[in-house]
Amino acid sequence: MINVTKTFLPDQEEYLQYVRGIWERGYLTNNGPLLQQLEGQLKEYLNVDYLYFCGNGTIVLQIAIKALELKGEIITTPFSYCATSNAILWENCTPVFVDIDAATFNINAELIEASITPATSAILATHVYGNPCDVEAIEAIAQKHNLKVIYDAAHAFGVTYKGKSLLSYGDLSTCSFHATKVFHTIEGGALISNHPELDRKLHLLRAFGHQGDEHYEFAGINGKNSEFHAAMGLVNLPQVPAIIQARKEVFEAYDSLLNWDILFKPTLSADIEYNYAYYPVVFPSEAVMFRVMEALKVGEIIPRRYFYPSLNTLSFMPRQIACPVSEDIAARVLSLPLYVGLPYEDIERISRMINGHLSP
Ligand SMILES: *Cc1c(COP(=O)(O)O)cnc(C)c1O
Repeated sequence: MINVTKTFLPDQEEYLQYVRGIWERGYLTNNGPLLQQLEGQLKEYLNVDYLYFCGNGTIVLQIAIKALELKGEIITTPFSYCATSNAILWENCTPVFVDIDAATFNINAELIEASITPATSAILATHVYGNPCDVEAIEAIAQKHNLKVIYDAAHAFGVTYKGKSLLSYGDLSTCSFHATKVFHTIEGGALISNHPELDRKLHLLRAFGHQGDEHYEFAGINGKNSEFHAAMGLVNLPQVPAIIQARKEVFEAYDSLLNWDILFKPTLSADIEYNYAYYPVVFPSEAVMFRVMEALKVGEIIPRRYFYPSLNTLSFMPRQIACPVSEDIAARVLSLPLYVGLPYEDIERISRMINGHLSP
């Protein structure tokens, strides 16, 4: 069976060495030494000043919204994982969906201003598949209308844009280190901040909002992560350049094998160093996509409809807002298997099966 992804597992002995250290110290969680060590290494690797390692990539979205004290409406993208809009709902704000650009699949910055109202407090956009949003245009709109900007950068680990970490754009960026992501800590996430003045607040929000047993400042949450998760990060982080290189090879193999007269994929920005996080392909119609999916399934190959459905169509959204481009792409996109160690023969086989089922 070949799945859309396969979790990278590092050398077991290296991980166990860290675990033995945890046993010796008897210190399992709460801002422990391994967590601090990982935060230091991540800041260095990503070249960012303020980074908070947290429980997962969803709680960091919630903490970001809380930290910036957002209220009312938040402009967001319908083409993302449900965690993006769910976090907005959990923070009692209203997601206002703005359609995506048909070439990049990121929020269409040209459509944002028409959706701004007096109730708008922020823009929360996803760097889809690790491909940067139009960060300059979004920054200009945010300045003009006095809005905050949060990027869901769950896909963007290690991506640089114009020579800078993509995570350093916006007021806050969030990352997921879930087992399925390019860099993982089993479960985990991080908040990346460009605001020194928020440092204390972000530390407190992550850990219940109090310092010691005397000093309760506000209602924080449990966004912490453990020494075991930090250990997985410490073992995996040095492997990231090799992981990205191996993913690049799979990515380029698909590039050379698939039938681009019929298929298409999002256009990557020219100004990036990419992390090869996903391999999405868009089929001519949903019917063709289903036919390909069936054929792959017979060969025990399981791609993923990612992202599907377009989030604006979810029944529990407080407002139904049409996003025709996002709905169209979501209906006919598949992310193909992409992971370290996927053999070239399998990439060839998958590509052959896809190319063989494309007639209308
Ligand atoms: C994975 C992902 C998340 C959620 O991250 P978790 O660590 O699983 O909570 C949020 N947004 C996007 C775009 C993701 O891909």
